[in-house]
Amino acid sequence: MPPRVSAYPMVQVGEALDSILARAHPLGRESVDLVHARGRVLAEDILADADLPGLPRSSVDGYAVMAGDDASEFEVLEEVTAGRLAHTQVRPGTAVHIMTGGTLPPGADAVVMLEEVEQTDSRAVLHHRPARGENVHPPGLDLTRGQHVLTAGSRIGAPEVGLLASVGRARVPVQRRPRVAVLATGDELVEPDQTPPPGSVRDSNRYALMAAVEEAGAEVVWHAHARDDEAELERAMRQGLAASDVLISSGGVSMGTRDLIKPLLERMATIQFGRVSFKPGKPLTFATTPDDKLAFGLPGFPVSSLVTFEVFVRPALLKLGGATTVLRPRVSVALGHDIRPDAVRVEYQRALVSWQDDRFVASTTGVQSSSRLMSIVGANALLEIQPSTHSLPKGTMVQALLLANL
Ligand code: AMP
Ligand code: MG
Repeated sequence: MPPRVSAYPMVQVGEALDSILARAHPLGRESVDLVHARGRVLAEDILADADLPGLPRSSVDGYAVMAGDDASEFEVLEEVTAGRLAHTQVRPGTAVHIMTGGTLPPGADAVVMLEEVEQTDSRAVLHHRPARGENVHPPGLDLTRGQHVLTAGSRIGAPEVGLLASVGRARVPVQRRPRVAVLATGDELVEPDQTPPPGSVRDSNRYALMAAVEEAGAEVVWHAHARDDEAELERAMRQGLAASDVLISSGGVSMGTRDLIKPLLERMATIQFGRVSFKPGKPLTFATTPDDKLAFGLPGFPVSSLVTFEVFVRPALLKLGGATTVLRPRVSVALGHDIRPDAVRVEYQRALVSWQDDRFVASTTGVQSSSRLMSIVGANALLEIQPSTHSLPKGTMVQALLLANL
């Protein structure tokens, strides 16, 4: 018997990613309370509703005076705290005791710090003559009315939450998060709380993929395990698709006799590609359903499923979720060790990148087996190793996708 050959043409990484992103369209928008906005993607440009501050404010605790007033002693007219307006007008020879954040009284245009003033009863002596505007925050210093402060498609973090509050957005327009179904397949899988009988393994992919989905800002709405049984698998896949915008399965996608995902996807979707020149994870499969849902058949090896998720699925989830930046940042790094590239496929090796002397250096996370989760635990980068028949010596510069802070 001649060797079996996959019916699916081998596509390159770039083609595969283009094919996915061309079919991932933002899902729409909703609004959430400000307290639930963190981590969401903004659906609208945000403009400042007013100047901030609206009136000139003191930036210190001190005495508001007219700059240039050279009186030897000042009459202290009143005390102004933050949130209260002055009743009096500052004239030559007078001052107002003012607290940080207090609105400058009319007439005053400078504040002398408390430390530079001696006050006895209602008389004050200044040991410093302030310039006009000294210790004063003018109106519009932080924000000006109508100023474009946040951009649609950006992710909301702590500073953005603060800014949204500052401009009065108690309800925040955000993009809808993709709803994702995760399906682990395999007769050999048992639950994490079980002791695997001989020949079985604990299902780690389902939980790792659910975590990865959430880290990508999407929502897991359904998850299950199915055995390598045609009827059971088909039922599970249809259920997962019905519940979600995106179905992610792991395992059962290569050339084995119990690898049923591709033929089942053929029944319910259109396979856009069924093989990628990519390591780890050549059998990665991508399909679209008639109602525009996406289905990813990830390979079963734990590292293959997480790395294919990272490179192909995460950008799709981000795009569905309306983010404008969907790819990881790339940097050039020096290899801290020799690497033997794959002869034909681009390989994404897991590494720990750090700044050493004057450049980024990548150290390996050890044996790069596609079953060895320890090769991705603790990694902050994927090295993109182009195919070659030659070894890359330590010091060679390669491209790296940054997965986390360095
Ligand atoms: P498959 O792609 O189904 O041929 O699986 C390839 C390898 O990955 C096999 O050794 C499986 O036991 C393993 N594997 C598949 N699914 C999982 C899973 N959910 N968790 C852990 N290992 C898995
Ligand atoms: Mg399997």
